[in-house]
Amino acid sequence: MDKKSIKDVIVKGKKCLVRVDFNVPLKDGEITDMNRINGALPTIKYLMENGAKVILCSHLGKPKGEFNMKYSLRPVADKLKEIFPNKVTFASDVIGESAKKAVSECNDGEIVLLENLRFHKEEEGNDKDFCKALSEFADIYVNDAYGTAHRAHASTAGIVQYGFVKDAVCGFLIEKELKIMAKSIEEPVRPFVAILGGAKVSSKIGVIENLMKKVDTIIIGGAMTYTFKKAQGYTIGTSLCEDDKVEDAKRFIEEAEKLGVKMMLPVDTLAADAFDNDANTKIVEGNIPDGWMGLDIGPKTAELYYNEIVKANTVVWNGPMGAFEMPNFSAGTRRVAEALADSKGTTIVGGGDSAAAIAQLGFADKVSHVSTGGGASLELMEGKILPGIACLNDAE
Ligand code: AMP
Repeated sequence: MDKKSIKDVIVKGKKCLVRVDFNVPLKDGEITDMNRINGALPTIKYLMENGAKVILCSHLGKPKGEFNMKYSLRPVADKLKEIFPNKVTFASDVIGESAKKAVSECNDGEIVLLENLRFHKEEEGNDKDFCKALSEFADIYVNDAYGTAHRAHASTAGIVQYGFVKDAVCGFLIEKELKIMAKSIEEPVRPFVAILGGAKVSSKIGVIENLMKKVDTIIIGGAMTYTFKKAQGYTIGTSLCEDDKVEDAKRFIEEAEKLGVKMMLPVDTLAADAFDNDANTKIVEGNIPDGWMGLDIGPKTAELYYNEIVKANTVVWNGPMGAFEMPNFSAGTRRVAEALADSKGTTIVGGGDSAAAIAQLGFADKVSHVSTGGGASLELMEGKILPGIACLNDAE
């Protein structure tokens, strides 16, 4: 799984086409969160300082294959110009005259940002001619867009898969994700605990299946708890449940037993009479009565989970323990976050909602790693090979 990184190739004087994730949130043309830009800066700075011609490319939103000013990367270019004065040129197209001119005039240590890749439907279609055109800007291809590494698009995989670029390496963001995320799953220091929560069993089936073979303990929380509870024969009131996944839940419980994996399910639930922060609540053990829904794990469960997590040496967490966006149902998720913060082991939070939860609760800087890609991390946890990583040169 080890891949060559930008440190393993000579970049001086070379055109380095860097696929970054500049899919930033915008409001009235203003960038409202700099995280993704900041995340790409170490790679960009390294390449500039080492004399590369840095050609940046990214998607932004879903413009559906045609030019749309609303999805222009111009606001990102303006930010980059503030960060690197007199070093940045923005191309108003992707593979057209503006891009060709900007790239041909790019000096060593300077940046060109291409316009939104998804203004061409060929990007998501992984079109061969589009890959060829992009490769004109790449003596070396660098992938640092972990958030789209699970997609086989032109700029994330095709450009290398079609054989148009020989030198294909990862940037520092992907290198870090591989080092921490992939290594922890494949070569965990034991005990290894996986915590899985969130809304749906269906979106985590592959993850449960794969991690079951690797972990010592699997902890279940969130709304998917109730599909498992139903599988155990409990009533679950009006809690969320995926009836067509009850059989899978049963199978997982049996499989855990066979494999000697400790599967922990909530022993109590914080139930509410409505999906509302101000709803009436009560703690329920066993059956959840009619008219009540489970919106968080209960306090006994939270303590059991805390004690199991805190003594682990590797912890991977994906999915909140309850409807944490409502403060009255965030205690279980908070306790799990505290356990990760108090653990001495390697603690990893998958992207998406768990990343949002840990940030909202203020523990993001107390864990080893918060992944930058929700979908990519889920697929990695499912044991899948991400096309944007598979296409890169192996480390020697
Ligand atoms: P996911 O995208 O599958 O990780 O699910 C995250 C969402 O699940 C969050 O928005 C949570 O509010 C929601 N969630 C977690 N637990 C519950 C629950 N018990 N009832 C309803 N929604 C929940």
